[in-house]
Amino acid sequence: MRLMLLGPPGAGKGTIAKKLIDKYGVPQLSTGDLLRAAVKEGTTLGLEAKKFMDAGELVPDKIVIGLIKERLAQRDCAKGFILDGFPRTLPQAQALAEITSLQAVINLDVSDEEVVARLSGRRTCPQCGAIYHVKNIPPKTPGKCDKDGADLIQRDDDKEEAIRNRLTVYRRQTVPLIDHYRAAGILQEVDGAAGVDNVTAAAVKVIENIR
Ligand code: AMP
Ligand code: ZN
Repeated sequence: MRLMLLGPPGAGKGTIAKKLIDKYGVPQLSTGDLLRAAVKEGTTLGLEAKKFMDAGELVPDKIVIGLIKERLAQRDCAKGFILDGFPRTLPQAQALAEITSLQAVINLDVSDEEVVARLSGRRTCPQCGAIYHVKNIPPKTPGKCDKDGADLIQRDDDKEEAIRNRLTVYRRQTVPLIDHYRAAGILQEVDGAAGVDNVTAAAVKVIENIR
């Protein structure tokens, strides 16, 4: 399975990807997660990327393309993968096409209002990456991860100012990918506001048709 999840920040790409990797046993390839790991480790690449991430800007193509190339070369990707948050620009899509071909792109459609509501309430576990929402997906104990009890955090780029910028950046740089993959005949539209279980079921249907 060579699948990509497309959609605005907060569309649920990470949440749905995690449901699908549990079911299919293929890795989730998230450039956001790879970048946050590099920031946490304090690598040169991480320090360079952090400025862009905190501002809600895209990290330069060259950096993320290098990261994803390295990740795709690892053995666990041989049986397939779910891309989450990559590609986000046309040059990234072109670079990806030179490495591998996608079988399907699921576009999670969500309104701007819903994006802002979701991101401002999103909390993540710094330990295991689990994603919560103060209202929609609350943890059992407020502020603590269900899996490991770690203190949940709000990502710097989930603060209001950065959210608005991320939406602008999404419209300008990532929306063109919708037409790009539609023209390639592999775009599948899914209502991202339908609730986690319904969106997962719709994604499963898409996957069953490509395997
Ligand atoms: P995400 O977790 O996917 O929302 O990504 C968080 C941030 O990482 C984004 O706002 C960008 O700054 C950066 N980022 C993640 N993926 C990409 C990408 N494919 N291209 C450029 N920047 C990215
Ligand atoms: Zn956790």
